[in-house]
Amino acid sequence: MISQRTAIRLSDGRELIYFDETPDADRAKWPDTRHLPPPPPTSQLRYDPLVDEWVAVAAHRQTRTFLPPSDKCPLCPSTPEFASEIPAPDYDVVVFENQFPSFSDRVKPDEITALTDMVPVRPGIGRTEVVCFTSDHNSSFGTLPPARVRTVLDALADRTTEMSALPGIAQVFPFENRGIEIGVTLSHPHGQIYAYPTVPPRTEAMLRAARKHAEHTGGRNLYADVLAAEQKAQVRVVASNEHWTAYVPAAARWPYEVQLAPHRQVADIPALSDEERDAFAPLYLDVLRRFDALFGKPMPYISAWHQAVVGEGRELGYLHLQLFSIRRAADKLKYLAGSESAMGAFVNDIVPEAAAQRLREAL
Ligand SMILES: [Zn+2]
Repeated sequence: MISQRTAIRLSDGRELIYFDETPDADRAKWPDTRHLPPPPPTSQLRYDPLVDEWVAVAAHRQTRTFLPPSDKCPLCPSTPEFASEIPAPDYDVVVFENQFPSFSDRVKPDEITALTDMVPVRPGIGRTEVVCFTSDHNSSFGTLPPARVRTVLDALADRTTEMSALPGIAQVFPFENRGIEIGVTLSHPHGQIYAYPTVPPRTEAMLRAARKHAEHTGGRNLYADVLAAEQKAQVRVVASNEHWTAYVPAAARWPYEVQLAPHRQVADIPALSDEERDAFAPLYLDVLRRFDALFGKPMPYISAWHQAVVGEGRELGYLHLQLFSIRRAADKLKYLAGSESAMGAFVNDIVPEAAAQRLREAL
């Protein structure tokens, strides 16, 4: 749990917030001593008229750091020899604005020029932040103590509330990419938070489905009904406790995919109660251990928090965590090839009921 929150500015003006588990850390004592250039001009959004979706274009991200050695890790605490992104010599959980943002609230609308009549362009207004789960470079989320998972959840709640209140934000999306197989460029345990200026395509699709379901059932919530059906069927449930259930979706797209949902319908992480936040940690850590045990080595995964949108359709949202891996066998990865990449039509080689059974028996 957070007992002290300290916000500072890095030398280029970006915000950094320490979430400390003890109340006595003097964070203001450690200013950023680097002389960083101003943050890069941010991205633009281009409208793809063929599919009615927005695509973010952020050229400056090509220059970001790629798998630096641990003594040059920008997410480790600073040392006398190396000034990292975090000025303090230690930290519990820390969040800061991404140096190479996909979206940013610093964008100037007049720098955006139109392309053609068919392709409107708009500034990539929004915000992207990095969340460091621990100062231990060689750790992983799955080995964090439950108390730290709670602190991370509280930090995500804080960030969701603040970023949802920024002008023009449609959805706040916390996620973790883990493993070089996923494309992680920094091995230090960390996640990210995107505050999108438009509702992302997957959320649009989920809203459409939820709206249709509500219309046909006199206002019932789609996700709540899906969860209830999975709890009744049990065959795809991997683990559960008083407040959460972890199950493999019946039509999972990925070889190993688990969704963790609270039993009470809440819109987002800030809406979770104390008890629900405490109950999340042991269940999630259990599922992560099962993932790693499947093939006897760390699973590359994506862990994605689906929160309600900020604006229209918010009442349809049901908070849940989607965890999935691209590993389908000890030495095989699932690549998004022709059918998935070109057509968005997934073919899953692992039967979801078998995946659930393997996960249940993995420990
Ligand atoms: Zn590190």
